[in-house]
Formats: sequence, C-alpha cells, structure tokens
Amino acid sequence: MAYVPRFLINYSEYTLDKARVRTLEDYLTFERKWFDTREWPRKTNDKIREESKDKRSPFNLGGRRWGHMDVLYEIPKDAWVEYYSVITSIGAPLQYGQGWDPPRRPQGTWSLDCPASEIFTRDLGGSDICPQCGRKLIWTVTSE
Ligand SMILES: [Zn+2]
Repeated sequence: MAYVPRFLINYSEYTLDKARVRTLEDYLTFERKWFDTREWPRKTNDKIREESKDKRSPFNLGGRRWGHMDVLYEIPKDAWVEYYSVITSIGAPLQYGQGWDPPRRPQGTWSLDCPASEIFTRDLGGSDICPQCGRKLIWTVTSE
C-alpha cells in the first residue's frame, strides 16, 4: 500500500493545529510536527526519469506557456496538494512578509503552479484556475 503521511492519518488533529497557526514560530512548530519530509519516501531516480519522459518540453494551454514540475515524494496526490498549499499559503507569507503580497511580477521568479497537474506558468495574468484539472493555481516564488 502506498505511504500515507501522518498529517492525513491524524487529519483532525492536523486541521486543528493548522487553524491555530498565527506567527512564524507557530508555523515552524507546525511544519516540524506535520511536514517532516525526511519521513516521506522519495521516488527513485529511475521513477523520476520515467515520469519525466512526457514532461520534457514546455507547452501552450489556455493562452499560456506551461512547464512541468517533478514531485520527488511517493505520497498520495491529495497529500502533495495539501502540503504544497499550506507551505505557500500559510508558511510563505509568514516567512516572507510583505514580499509575498501583490503585485507579483514574473521577473521576480513568481509562478502560478498546479501541484496536482505538476505544471507551472510564469504568464501571470489571467485565470487562476488550472486548465488541466480545474483546481485553483498556487502562487509560488522560486529562487534561481
Ligand atoms: Zn491542475
């Protein structure tokens, strides 16, 4: 059976803890408790290579240019989406402060990501809905 992270197994406790996060210190405690990625099984290099066969080139969809992302962990997709949403919507604003607030510009390495479809775009204008799965896109800034 596939590995399930503790935050999904103890979901009600996790949800309560998440709702209590107010400060960066709260968040770091929460993150240590629930998102210890060292516990998560990592995909093998062979598996990542196999999955990226179909992910080589950027593509156009819904009027935007998209690139692919790799998920490094063998965890359920919903768990990956939840983790990704929390680190970007709760963790990052506490860590980066006002730097996280709009306006967000592509030259600042901002992207709109769908962790479920494993795609991202730097074409920031337009819809915030993923054209592949219909989920809300997630703002992320990456350091390059
Ligand atoms: Zn999607």
